[in-house]
Amino acid sequence: MSGRIDPELLRILVCPKCKGELEVRLGEDGAEASLDCSACGLAYPVEDGIPVMLIEEAKPLPPSGSSGEKGSSGGAPRA
Ligand SMILES: [Zn+2]
Repeated sequence: MSGRIDPELLRILVCPKCKGELEVRLGEDGAEASLDCSACGLAYPVEDGIPVMLIEEAKPLPPSGSSGEKGSSGGAPRA
């Protein structure tokens, strides 16, 4: 099997933005698809087992399971 991240590498990887821990997200094939930082709300892509630890390459995490929203059309920044 190729395309898996070296576990030793995973242990030392941190979010380049906040230096926080990363959560491995697995793809449908069981290989690592991305490394997620919930603190920053960013998902760092993994390409062929190589984590791309670049903030500019990271994708925003989809909002997950926050049920606090009540149909407001807001989005306006608060002062
Ligand atoms: Zn982070």
